[in-house]
Amino acid sequence: MKCSECYSENPRITPLRGARDCLSNHLQYVCSACGRVICIGAIGQKKARCLMPFGSLEQAQLYLKAAEIMNQGLCGIYELIYKRGDKRYRVFKNSHELSVFLKKNSQIKCEKKEPVYISKEYHPVKQEQIHHLTPDEVEKYIAERKELGLK
Ligand SMILES: [Zn+2]
Ligand SMILES: [Zn+2]
Repeated sequence: MKCSECYSENPRITPLRGARDCLSNHLQYVCSACGRVICIGAIGQKKARCLMPFGSLEQAQLYLKAAEIMNQGLCGIYELIYKRGDKRYRVFKNSHELSVFLKKNSQIKCEKKEPVYISKEYHPVKQEQIHHLTPDEVEKYIAERKELGLK
């Protein structure tokens, strides 16, 4: 079943890559329902993982909650066509933000200007759910990932 707060079925699936580095060095949002940790970068900065392109809709969904928190409201996942026809998924606050992005990146196309996925409602999280993990929290989370067969 999908977590009602962070929308994932797997409570330890993130980080998708470079888990130790991400958990130790980046700001994290911790789901209050399932305990999953999602890289949220620095609030207000556009470099966060959740705002970068994803190879699949499923991966984008894993980071959607972090994007919603950064934008303090609903965000849509849009399907983009990159050079050579590769599909990528990116999260934008709305179709206006998408248009601004497409204007700056004329080699990237978006056929449907509608999100391929959007949450029904946005529920804000508590400020204390967003923090850097302590070294002990990092080790505990990594151990829990190993139990589930994740690196
Ligand atoms: Zn990270
Ligand atoms: Zn959760």
